[in-house]
Amino acid sequence: MSDNYLILIPTEPTWTPDDTAADKAGTIVAELTPDAEEVEGFILDEVEFFDAGDNFESVKCPHCDADVTDWWSGAMDRANELAFGDLGVSMPCCGRPSSLNDLVYDMPQGFAQFAITVTEPGIEQLDDATLRRIGEALGHPVRAIWQKV
Ligand SMILES: [Zn+2]
Repeated sequence: MSDNYLILIPTEPTWTPDDTAADKAGTIVAELTPDAEEVEGFILDEVEFFDAGDNFESVKCPHCDADVTDWWSGAMDRANELAFGDLGVSMPCCGRPSSLNDLVYDMPQGFAQFAITVTEPGIEQLDDATLRRIGEALGHPVRAIWQKV
């Protein structure tokens, strides 16, 4: 048996909400996942990487669509040494600038200093309108990460 998590993070890695906004967004998420084991929102001391676990397949360049999965793990190691304080990268495929947070992850992954995690959410997707609603409650657009471990 694998464990499933839904993790909602702001699209901007260093952005964090105030308590009121975090509670409001957490309430909406809890209503959307009535069968979940646990819904929890938290602010971290530093930016952390939230991965998709077994749902992770590949990474592509947001500019030219090249598969950069092999290059990516080295880029992650280098960024990790700087505690993810600088996510800027120069893409190996086309040389254009990007951010590790803005690569095309299949399935989605990302960096954040705030997250709402749902343990065993009991749902498998959220539509764009629902994600927008969570983002409006939080005060910043969010990204959904479906993590299987
Ligand atoms: Zn490229």
